[in-house]
Amino acid sequence: MFKAVRVIFAVAAAVVMCAGASAQSVKVDAREVEATRVQMTAMRDAFVKAVHDAGFTCPIAAPRLLIVDVPSFGSYEPSTNELKTSSWTQMTDGERALFHKFMGPNSTDEMARAEFEDGAHHWVFVHEMGHWWQECQKVSNVMKPYALEFGADRIAAAYWKEHDPSVIEHQRPVFEAIVTRWPNPVPEGQNAETYFNTNYEQLGPTPGYIWFQAHMCLKAYDEKPAPSLAQALRETK
Ligand SMILES: [Zn+2]
Repeated sequence: MFKAVRVIFAVAAAVVMCAGASAQSVKVDAREVEATRVQMTAMRDAFVKAVHDAGFTCPIAAPRLLIVDVPSFGSYEPSTNELKTSSWTQMTDGERALFHKFMGPNSTDEMARAEFEDGAHHWVFVHEMGHWWQECQKVSNVMKPYALEFGADRIAAAYWKEHDPSVIEHQRPVFEAIVTRWPNPVPEGQNAETYFNTNYEQLGPTPGYIWFQAHMCLKAYDEKPAPSLAQALRETK
């Protein structure tokens, strides 16, 4: 059985850390952690409301939020119904370096933080809420890895298209850069979905996993006709 916790940016962070940035400890500002908790509780509740507004209910509670340093910048654990997300103040220099890298060599801490807020607290967070919906539908341990990840991307893409398309406009070039500049891990002649499902555990700690996540996000952005949130939720089975 594959791992319950599914991540997007973990390997990229590891790659950046190996490139020289130190993973020194940071002084955590408790007020910032609390501000993140308030912000993410509101985003969680907005997603749950959108599910209800689309005509659906979930037999389990909304996920409990843990505001902790999570190297993947977001994860959902079905067995405990806990969703982890980080406050910028909790992150190590190594983890922050990834967001500096996205913003270029002269990026300020403010620019890197803004990138983190878009990526982790919008795109990744709602992707993880998509995994919560999969648990609502009792398919977390039934669907194969590719279907789970692409399904969560599909839900997140539909949600943001209806609530704030600028999130997708912002994320698209990030994922396009990964797909075009990083090596395609799929061997010649093999099907991407089959390869991902067969090699899921081995891909986990490699940049190839990030390539797949970027590939699936773009596929979800470009689906035509674009599914409504109600359709994406209904088709989670
Ligand atoms: Zn995921």
